[in-house]
Amino acid sequence: MLNANWIKSKKETGFACPVFRREFTVNKPVKSATLAASARGVYTANLNGQRLGDFILAPGWTVYEKRIQVQTYDITDIIKEENHLDICLAKGWYLGRITTRENLWGTPEKSVDSRESAVIAELCITYADGTREVIGTDESWRVAESPIRFCELYDGEIYDATFVPNFDDNAVIAENNDLRVLIPQQGEAVIENERIKPIAVIHTPKGETVLDFGQNLTGYPEITVTAKAGEEVELSFAEILDKDGNFYNKNYRSAKCMYRYICFEGTQSHKPALTFYGFRYIRIDKFPKGTFNPDNFTAIVLHSRLKRTGNIITSDPMLNQLFHNIIWGQKSNYLDIPTDCPQRDERLGWTGDAQVFVRTASYNFDVQCFFTKWLEDMRISQKDNGAVPCVIPNAENGAVGAAWGDAVTICPWQIYLTYGDKNILKSMLPAMRRWIDYITDITTTPYLWTGAWQYGDWLELTAPFGEYKGETRDDIIASAFYANSTNLLCKAGRIIGEDISRYEELYRNIVRTFKETYRDDFKTQTELVLALHFDLTDNKSALSKQLYDLIVSQGKKLQTGFVGTPYLLHVLSDNGYADLAYDLLLRKEFPSWLYPITKGATTMWEHWDGIMPNGDMWPEYMNSFNHYAYGAVADWMYGVCAGINTVESAPGFNKIIFRPIATDKLERFYAEIETVHGKVSSSWYHQDGAVRYEIVTPSPAIAVINGKEYKLTPGKYIF
Ligand code: BGC
Repeated sequence: MLNANWIKSKKETGFACPVFRREFTVNKPVKSATLAASARGVYTANLNGQRLGDFILAPGWTVYEKRIQVQTYDITDIIKEENHLDICLAKGWYLGRITTRENLWGTPEKSVDSRESAVIAELCITYADGTREVIGTDESWRVAESPIRFCELYDGEIYDATFVPNFDDNAVIAENNDLRVLIPQQGEAVIENERIKPIAVIHTPKGETVLDFGQNLTGYPEITVTAKAGEEVELSFAEILDKDGNFYNKNYRSAKCMYRYICFEGTQSHKPALTFYGFRYIRIDKFPKGTFNPDNFTAIVLHSRLKRTGNIITSDPMLNQLFHNIIWGQKSNYLDIPTDCPQRDERLGWTGDAQVFVRTASYNFDVQCFFTKWLEDMRISQKDNGAVPCVIPNAENGAVGAAWGDAVTICPWQIYLTYGDKNILKSMLPAMRRWIDYITDITTTPYLWTGAWQYGDWLELTAPFGEYKGETRDDIIASAFYANSTNLLCKAGRIIGEDISRYEELYRNIVRTFKETYRDDFKTQTELVLALHFDLTDNKSALSKQLYDLIVSQGKKLQTGFVGTPYLLHVLSDNGYADLAYDLLLRKEFPSWLYPITKGATTMWEHWDGIMPNGDMWPEYMNSFNHYAYGAVADWMYGVCAGINTVESAPGFNKIIFRPIATDKLERFYAEIETVHGKVSSSWYHQDGAVRYEIVTPSPAIAVINGKEYKLTPGKYIF
């Protein structure tokens, strides 16, 4: 617990950022010094003008009513005789529009009305003589308005470099001075990553000057400018250009995403500090006359500190680009929590999107710590009746839905499988149980989940133009996920050693009732996919043939949305139709994974047809070009093309099963994953009329090659 208070400014400054200052003198030798700090909002801390730490948007996003992370900084080497410590505060996720929902759909969290943004800090100096001094936030701290005249996550930043803060006021202790919510940093810090220079300056037909960074990304710009005092830079952000080549960001909806910088006299560099943008293009709306030069712009990429663990390289450049887009979809949306998109007035922790992508995510990057934090917020956000909100942290008091709420079972289970981490199952098991109990309580049909509003197979292609929900029946989706989640709960319970016999019986009843009710009468691709993938039919071969025929009769085109897509290729290859799965993967025309690449995509799109074949766009009210969900196909590439699979009974790749399925449609395929036990890789290529397989395993493994089974000890093998 910190020896300090939550402090705030007396004056309500709206979206202008206050800065809190404490001056202090050190007049004997220092052995060590640390600062612990946090905010209800987002903050930066500077000691003697030097920014502390590399955490951008600290303290991150948690269920603030219950827990707020504290960051600690070693300041031993920066401390001087005369010091000033500045903490600048913006509303961030705590009180920005993302939470208050001002001008947005949805209702805010109930707690928003009583929120007041504030900072807290404790400076601790240990002197060489063994004495200690603690300086905590209190009314002795001064406060001023800062040069950040406006800062909002959706709307961007206005920075006036000519503005001189006037520390003529004292801070006050916030009404809510609850320190019990403070916890040590649990997640991965958000940090600056790649620095990208523009690849082109575009003069659009409308006469706009637009910088192209060649990559859709999440971050902010850094500018260098030589100017007279008071001259301005103004920038706008976009993910794409429209079909005429003009700047287009209507799909950001109400998010203003602006950047305005008012210069001081001379040469200066600046980047925003307490907001972020999703963009590939920057339009130069204002720049000091005669000084514009693209070299003076850099895009700085922001995402949580994640170690890259997975890679896929194939002989097909478009497939490689798809994998690149999947990686960048993840980078762009793993910003402290898994978000749906980084640009429009949303950027929320949608649970459905997260569960769809979690397996791919856990192969691409080490996301164990990232998910441990977010799942804890999910656990504590669960409603009294067991409902799991669709957005975590719960910025929306809205709907509960199948495949979204099921993140509570699917995500911990996958983290367990990829990293072998039993603790995540242990801590999430009660929440899993309560989710299953919730469904059991509210359903209108015992042993199925019926009668509830659902998101459906979100963005399924059977939906009428401009709508979200297709023909897949809600009750089938909900009941199939009810079965799957109950099954995962049972597996998790057995691993933890808890008595889950009640749920084992429930699971048997759900499966039986599902089979009796639907009698294999499935109409859409997604209905078939779910029944097959979740083992809810006794007629696998007939149903998979039906799925095959359906896809072929529809012109070998997928029709699935968020819910069906992640399992579609798995179901085909599991049932002997890998050839069709490869056709779908490698298809270049709409609808397909590669189609967006023909339109220049550098990240995953929300829609299969975000830009349509004729160049028109999906309606602007729901058209993100940076949504990772369909990137879940990478788990089929790792798990089936390369055939790398962990084993449920020996998770964390403690044992590995290689079951690669090669194809004539590609010359080469290579995938690797850095597991807890070391690097696993699997590749194949065609040589002299045969397929050669190369496998490297860090753990005992079984390889199934051309139908033959081989037992492997750690090492490298060629077949
Ligand atoms: C989000 C989705 C999310 C959905 C809920 C959208 O606005 O962007 O990705 O899962 O709402 O259905």
